[in-house]
Amino acid sequence: MNLRFFRLCCLSRLSLALTVALLGACASAPTGVSYRAPDSATQAPETATGFTPKPGWSADKFMVAAANPLATDAGYQVLKAGGSAIDAAIAVQMVLGLVEPQSSGIGGGLFLMHADGPLVQAFDGRETAPAAATPDLFMKDGKPMGFMEGVVGGRSVGTPGVLRALELAHRQHGKLPWKSLFAPAIALAEEGFAISPLLAAMLRDGGAKALRNDPTAAAYFYDADGTPKTAGTILRNPDYAAVLRDVAERGPIAFYEGPVARDIVAKVRGHAGNPGLLSEADLAGYQAKLRAPLCFEHQAARLCGMPPPSSGPLAIAQMLGMLASRNLAVMAPVQASFGLEPSADAVHALSEAGRLAYADRGRYVADPDFVALPGGNTDAMLNPQYLAQRGALIGERSMGRATPGVPIAPAMSLADDRSPELPSTSQVSVVDGQGRAVAMTTTIENGFGAQIMVRGFLLNNELTDFSFVPSENGAPVANRVEGGKRPRSSMSPMLVFDRASGQLTMSVGSPGGSAIINYVIKVLVATLDWGLDVQQAISLPNFGSRNGPTELEEGRASSALIDELKARGHEVRVINQTSGLQGIQRAMKDGKPGWFGGADPRREGVVMGD
Ligand code: GLU
Repeated sequence: MNLRFFRLCCLSRLSLALTVALLGACASAPTGVSYRAPDSATQAPETATGFTPKPGWSADKFMVAAANPLATDAGYQVLKAGGSAIDAAIAVQMVLGLVEPQSSGIGGGLFLMHADGPLVQAFDGRETAPAAATPDLFMKDGKPMGFMEGVVGGRSVGTPGVLRALELAHRQHGKLPWKSLFAPAIALAEEGFAISPLLAAMLRDGGAKALRNDPTAAAYFYDADGTPKTAGTILRNPDYAAVLRDVAERGPIAFYEGPVARDIVAKVRGHAGNPGLLSEADLAGYQAKLRAPLCFEHQAARLCGMPPPSSGPLAIAQMLGMLASRNLAVMAPVQASFGLEPSADAVHALSEAGRLAYADRGRYVADPDFVALPGGNTDAMLNPQYLAQRGALIGERSMGRATPGVPIAPAMSLADDRSPELPSTSQVSVVDGQGRAVAMTTTIENGFGAQIMVRGFLLNNELTDFSFVPSENGAPVANRVEGGKRPRSSMSPMLVFDRASGQLTMSVGSPGGSAIINYVIKVLVATLDWGLDVQQAISLPNFGSRNGPTELEEGRASSALIDELKARGHEVRVINQTSGLQGIQRAMKDGKPGWFGGADPRREGVVMGD
């Protein structure tokens, strides 16, 4: 791995504030974590929102990267206590649900990639549509609802999958007792934590207006006069702590059956303006799935990601396959006034490939348990001849809008998907002391999910990831709503391996709605083809096309790049592209192997390790 800048981490300072006690003294049989909140728990993190350059962090043995310093710290303490990567991921998730509630939590879903030596697994904790849901869930008077009209309330709430997926992964790869992993979140929820600048900004700047209409959420996030609580305000969440205590003791059944399940269903079905269909039977029957990972090769790397119902890694594999005959390495970033910027050649190549891949995604990808991909699995869409044919459509000038290809003679005709998405979500990457790795992307979908709260946690609006329109001109949309089905996702947690040695070289992923695909492929190409370290790759301006305009990152796109792309026929749109990339990369330091981690300067994430 070519790491140009290997910087000393600022961890040692943070580590001083931590106290970790091993209850089981020896690392081979640890029994738990005795958590002490860092002093910073009740101080607002310094990181403001916007773009705050980050140094990258290094460690020798283990590392965790998450979107909030308190969540990262919880994972760090678990790793330090001898926990496995999955143990750390569970502790991180429980804290994220508290300190970054707008993005993920036990009311949502996740995809988790896990590697233990040669064994690579994909855990699917995606939400499911209630059994009673029908394809017209988001239609009104023959027309699709407005996006937020669908989002807010009970209608969009899918059966949460987070706890069942983590339980499944912990049964296989957990080292510390399940119960002990909830200690950090319970302590922070009971003792209080400082509202972060990002959470405060999201409460302040709108987008979550309906939170005020939910009495539970209003009491938690707003002062009595309706003013949103500000950064640094100490928030306590005893209701969430109580749920976690019960889940810690009795397992996920404490969430999926009994009073918590009843409260969730009552909230969803009893919503005044927009009731939903979720039932206690949906919750009791939820099953996480273990899927065969989607693995493919690029340069000297083997990449493994989540297969459908995620469309992300499949689109990434298609894009890299379409560009296989082109030399991406010579399209390296160039210097701009604000730092490195992707070259016009790179933006052109990846945007055009993106157009083609997103066109296929919109036509073909859905929950494979309901709608088969062309040919029955991912093979036809990843067939090298098909991808070469698609790649040959990339010319000197932008193609504008791509139409889907025909990977194999279709068994039935499908119409294109039309599901709108807005960003929230969170990325967690972990490597433990034994080399096991996790890449987990976790979400309640839109910021603050369905904007309804039960017992201290928010419920997802994942069902709006389905196509609102179920069919067009008589042809069904693959990603239409159906009872029990998982909505198509773009989440792309990826694990990267060295092809020759099989060693893990990177764990990465990002939030960002359907732009996740472009955010993650940027990091993959920047590290694998351009030799940037993972922090440089994350910090590089975002770009790409989702088969609409070519998107460049606001404030971080030079006029030279914009002009060059326009000259090549691109319709350029300079927009906010708030990724939340987190990544950990194998790296050499002073001749010794170790880890180098990066966190997105656009959000509040940090990396910790020893
Ligand atoms: N719900 C989206 C998905 O599964 C993720 C949302 C986001 O990243 O903002 O693709």
